[in-house]
Amino acid sequence: MNNSSTASLALLGGQPEITTRGGHFAWPPIDSRDIEAVTRQLMDAVSIPGRAGIVAELEDALATWLGVRYVVTTCTGTAALHSMYAAAGIGPGDEVLVPALTFHATATPLLHLGARPVLVDVDDDGQLNLDAATGLVSPRTKALVAVHLWGLPENADALAAFAGEHDVILLEDGSHAHGASWGGRLVGTYGRAAAFSLNGPKPLSAGEGGFVATDDTELYYRLLLHGQYNKRCRTEIPSGHPLAKFATTGQGLKLRIHPLAAALARAQLPRLEGYLTGRATCAERICAVLENVPGLRTPRLDPAARASWYTLPLRYESAALGGLPLARFLAAVHAEGAMAVDHPGSTRPLGDHPLFRAPREMIPHYPGAQDPVLGECRGAARVHASTLKLPVWHRPEDSAFADAYAAALAKVARHHKELL
Ligand SMILES: *Cc1c(COP(=O)(O)O)cnc(C)c1O
Repeated sequence: MNNSSTASLALLGGQPEITTRGGHFAWPPIDSRDIEAVTRQLMDAVSIPGRAGIVAELEDALATWLGVRYVVTTCTGTAALHSMYAAAGIGPGDEVLVPALTFHATATPLLHLGARPVLVDVDDDGQLNLDAATGLVSPRTKALVAVHLWGLPENADALAAFAGEHDVILLEDGSHAHGASWGGRLVGTYGRAAAFSLNGPKPLSAGEGGFVATDDTELYYRLLLHGQYNKRCRTEIPSGHPLAKFATTGQGLKLRIHPLAAALARAQLPRLEGYLTGRATCAERICAVLENVPGLRTPRLDPAARASWYTLPLRYESAALGGLPLARFLAAVHAEGAMAVDHPGSTRPLGDHPLFRAPREMIPHYPGAQDPVLGECRGAARVHASTLKLPVWHRPEDSAFADAYAAALAKVARHHKELL
């Protein structure tokens, strides 16, 4: 790391702030406990058809951690969302309110269920704009899905009030926000059910995986019938239940988690709390440096909110830097060696994607006459266009990276005139 912060920009031939090459941020952190757990699982069982072994252990641990009755693991977060929507009874003709700014998989399973995503704009903090949502409620509105974007939790009280007032099912996509909370209420326990990804970079990682959490017994049976079959369904759904006759096949999909992935997530879970505490310290450290840097706005966190800091979203204010385009600013930041600063690519306004603009060209059975409601969603466009993401490290020994990244950003902002 370089302390010559008054030197000229690396993009213009000066000394870069960071000279350590590549690999500044890696996730998940793997240590001997993970290696031991996965190796033990490898020797024990690599396929688990019932609710047994490591799959049962992981589901029990997740349910205890969240304080919910049921958890069903899946092969991906996308599959978890698909199962959650199906189990909540969402189908053709149903409208589901979805934030306009999220990763596409929050909404793509709805298309496969024949339901209609209705995009709701976000406010300047990237949170769901409930006034906009109110204006989009119709007699067909069945559910609202909350996404805790970048790990900053949505307001649990406001969402519950909205769901109650409009009689819609409150669902969550917690994929950025394992362990985040609002007023002490954990993300994943706000509503009827919550889906989480356990994908590689997520705060809790199985490499690949996901799960759904719920207290609702009926919804739980339907989760099982969506992505599990035979043994699990036969042992967990009471034989007298009207759906028990489908136990052998379920819906015929198979969305099971891999036991080696389950072993990794199970080994990681006890460390999640430490990751979150470390990340919060790191985020505070970066924000303290950037708070007073013109052109960069640090995230506002309500006192009731605890973030998971999946990433640190900065807002780039071009006007404060003489109109310097974000791309030019980012190129200068990268030249300083802060390679892990990023403008979000796939997490973007959903209305940008051809899949939501022309769903039938891709999904032939998508019902006619109910195209997704895309709206204007200027908030989502504005927030996306001006967001820069930073990695948030969790180990004290990585604080030098956090400091160097903050210094690199501050340096480019301070020297912005040279780039105009
Ligand atoms: C990662 C992610 C998903 C999809 O999860 P996969 O495990 O990659 O299928 C869905 N929603 C959000 C918000 C995500 O970040």
